[in-house]
Order: sequence, then structure tokens, then C-alpha cells
Amino acid sequence: MVQGLSLAALAILFLFPQQFCTASGSNGQTPSLKGKKVLYVYGGWEGHDPGPSVDLFVPWLRSEGAEVVVSDNLDSYTDAELMESLDLVIQIWTMGKITREQEAGLLKAVRSGVGLAGWHGGTGDSFRDNVEYQFMVGGQWVAHPGGVIDYRVNITNHEDPVTKDLKDFAMHSEQYYMHVDPNVKVLATTTFTGEHAFWIEDCVMPVVWKKYYGNGRVFYSSLGHVIGDFNGPEVLEIQKRGIRWAAESKYHPREEWKDPKYR
Ligand SMILES: [Zn+2]
Repeated sequence: MVQGLSLAALAILFLFPQQFCTASGSNGQTPSLKGKKVLYVYGGWEGHDPGPSVDLFVPWLRSEGAEVVVSDNLDSYTDAELMESLDLVIQIWTMGKITREQEAGLLKAVRSGVGLAGWHGGTGDSFRDNVEYQFMVGGQWVAHPGGVIDYRVNITNHEDPVTKDLKDFAMHSEQYYMHVDPNVKVLATTTFTGEHAFWIEDCVMPVVWKKYYGNGRVFYSSLGHVIGDFNGPEVLEIQKRGIRWAAESKYHPREEWKDPKYR
């Protein structure tokens, strides 16, 4: 009987391989980007390598089967037809200014179910005057004591597909100190030593999180100060998995999680 079931399973795999092979990414945990429409917006402060990030991530997005629109202009957010057609926005735009109309287009799209994914200052330190943007992202960079230093990232959620099977790892980069929304789902953290700001010794800070803004999935990692940081295999893998997760908002019911910090 057991053998019979196995043969039946093999037959299903043979007859419907697409069901099993295209539903997963390379890690087999987060779905691939096949057929997803992605807007990749890059610009702002050059020190965070917005241009090189296009060279790294856009070929990968396309290799997964995503249709990618690359834009170096925030006016893309005012193109209602484009925004409604998207599954995901990836934004790497440190500091800079966004107009009310541009911001409104982005916020509306994400509230309606378009995902948002990004990293470091390109998403977590984008438009310092725009608090609703920060409400959407779930955090805002405020300091990186000591500049580029050695620190560790601790995987704190071993169940979530974005960080499953990953181990803690070392970084030599900026350790972001952020003002973080208490309603995000934290997947990885870092602990400050106090060496560069004694009053934050032992402070545990979120590094990777996911959340919703309206119906849109939002994924953020504070790693990736320069493009070379993605040579760290965990850094790149977390980002890829987070991007895949965020691109799925329109296809799944809202994930419910409550993680009250101050109760
Ligand atoms: Zn930086």
C-alpha cells in the first residue's frame, strides 16, 4: 500500500511537474517570482550603491521569471496604471525628497496590496520629512554608532520561511540603530556592545522584519550598506526570500500575527 502511494505520488509529479517545480524558489521555501510584475526604483544618495544594486538584483528578478520595470525617477509612483498593475515595488532611494503626489501614489498602491521590499537606507532612510512613508516601512534609521564595524546578526525566528534554516552570522558594515514600529514581525536582530555609544550597551535591535501596510506586504532588512555586503550569503538569501514573500500580497489572505511588545 505504501509503495502504491509512492507510485501515485511519482505519477502526479510526472504529470504535473509545474505544480511542484515552479511554485518554489531555489531554497524551496519561498515562492518564485514567476509572472510577478516588479517596479525597481533606484536613486538618492550614491553612497548606498543604488546603481550597482540594479546590476545585482534586476538580472536575478528576471531569472526568476519576474517582469521588471526599472526606474530612476520617483514620478513612476504617479503612474496609476503602472502602480495598479504591480505585484511589488523595490525601492533603493536613500534620503532625497518625494513630492506629495509621488508619495500618495506609492502609499495607495501598497495599501491596496502591492508589496514593498528594500533594505538599509534605500528603504529605511528614504524621505526623512515623510512620516506616513515611515509608518509604512515600520522603521527609520537614526544612527550607526562607530560607522563600519564588526557585529553579529542573530536569527531570532527559525520558523518563518524568510529566515528558516539560516544561522547567525558576522557582518563588517554599518550596524543600524533604528526607531522601529512595535507592530512589525522581527526575524533577526543585532545587539549593540556600547563601545561606540555607551548608553545603548546590550540593546537588542531588529535587523530584519516583515509587516503589512493596509493589504500590502512590507519586507525590510537593515543590511546592505554597500553592494559588497550582499557577498555575505545570508545577507543576499534573506533579501531574496523577503522579496519573494512581499511579492505575494495579492495572492494570499492576510497573514495574521500579533506581537504586542508593551503588554
Ligand atoms: Zn549606509
